[in-house]
Amino acid sequence: MDFNLTDEQRMLVETLRTMGERENFRKLAQEIDATAEFPFHLIPKYAEMGLLGMTLSTAYGGGGRPGIDAVIAIEELAKYSPMIAAPVFESNVGPVRVIDMFGTEEQRQTVIPGVCKGNLSVSVGMTEPEAGSDLTSLTTHAVEDGDGYVLNGRKSFITGGGHASHYMVYTRFGETKGYKGIGGLLVEKGMPGFSFGKQEEFMGLRGMPSCDLVFEDVKVPKKNLVVKPGEFTKLMTTFDIERCGNSAMCLGVAGGALEVARTYAMERHAFGRPISEFQAIQFMIVDMAMRLEAARLLVYRAAAGAGQGLPSIYDASLAKCYANEMVIEVTNTAMQVLGGYGYSKEFPVERMLRDGRAWCVAGGTVQMLRITLASFLFGRRFDQRK
Ligand SMILES: Cc1cc2nc3c(=O)[nH]c(=O)nc-3n(C[C@H](O)[C@H](O)[C@H](O)COP(=O)(O)OP(=O)(O)OC[C@H]3O[C@@H](n4cnc5c(N)ncnc54)[C@H](O)[C@@H]3O)c2cc1C
Repeated sequence: MDFNLTDEQRMLVETLRTMGERENFRKLAQEIDATAEFPFHLIPKYAEMGLLGMTLSTAYGGGGRPGIDAVIAIEELAKYSPMIAAPVFESNVGPVRVIDMFGTEEQRQTVIPGVCKGNLSVSVGMTEPEAGSDLTSLTTHAVEDGDGYVLNGRKSFITGGGHASHYMVYTRFGETKGYKGIGGLLVEKGMPGFSFGKQEEFMGLRGMPSCDLVFEDVKVPKKNLVVKPGEFTKLMTTFDIERCGNSAMCLGVAGGALEVARTYAMERHAFGRPISEFQAIQFMIVDMAMRLEAARLLVYRAAAGAGQGLPSIYDASLAKCYANEMVIEVTNTAMQVLGGYGYSKEFPVERMLRDGRAWCVAGGTVQMLRITLASFLFGRRFDQRK
């Protein structure tokens, strides 16, 4: 067992750290939050640096690197802001991986090179107004019609909605109930009948494009079928890669908050001494570091165990659940260390707390992850309907 980063991984971290300082990503993060404008200008830069699609197949322009490298990069950039890390997330751990792993040759050729160049991006459409955790109740449906399918339905809270060029849409085919009837169709922006709802207003993650997807008699060609009905587990297991990315965002945000709190504690004086000399403050900082390091081990284990393939469902669920709760605790404690300034927009920790709060819902709630984990620990599935 080797807990060290490789030379290449260390260089990656160093490069991103230097870029973050040089380009003042701290200020950029503040601006993104204030204006709610996504930093699209970073995309060509990231493409040039080989950060986009670094984990995708080399045959289509990807970097062919293991998933752990993307996790490390996402973590490093999310220390400033999840928005700054988002293009690396989308292009390496997002639904484009479903296309890379299970798509046809034509689908890969159409999408992956564009994703690596930063011209295209893929979002995932699973959640519906009446089906979130209870995903297998989804009602979006595709009906076979000649050389294609006619798609109808609505998806909610879709990250990248409106901006992404392609959408991996989880849909029911025909009348088959439950997970057996669900597969994945690739829907392209601009297809007649495909429109977007209004931009979501979230408490955090400001600047992230997010909206409903609306499908009204959208004709999707059969060649856009990525995952056939009955192969729902393929969609879900690939989603565990995304869960590692989600967890990496938590590591980054918590790491950013820890650094702000540690520095502040050395500079802020009370009772004639730096507050870092008070044991109560030291213990808060130590507890933050302890939780963060524990989460990092779980996340890295899940990602490293996956290699260039899929992580274990148990490892990925455990890592996401722990990291999702860790980031809330760490950012909240950071806010306490900063006293009144922690609650002020003058410092970034209130934003980090708002951003960090999203992940225990996005990508599957911590309650649903615990249900998955319980099924491993008890060696049986717990049907939530019975
Ligand atoms: C920032 C953000 C980004 C997102 N991005 C995307 C995206 O890109 N694509 C996409 O498809 N979706 C996305 N989502 C949606 C997200 O996946 C869902 O919100 C999530 O799965 C929960 O579904 P829900 O909101 O319908 O909550 P519900 O399923 O209604 O759950 C409500 C509460 O009940 C609990 N609960 C439900 N069932 C059980 C049970 N059996 N046992 C115990 N507790 C239970 C849940 O844990 C939760 O606390 C995003 C959400 C957010 C906040």
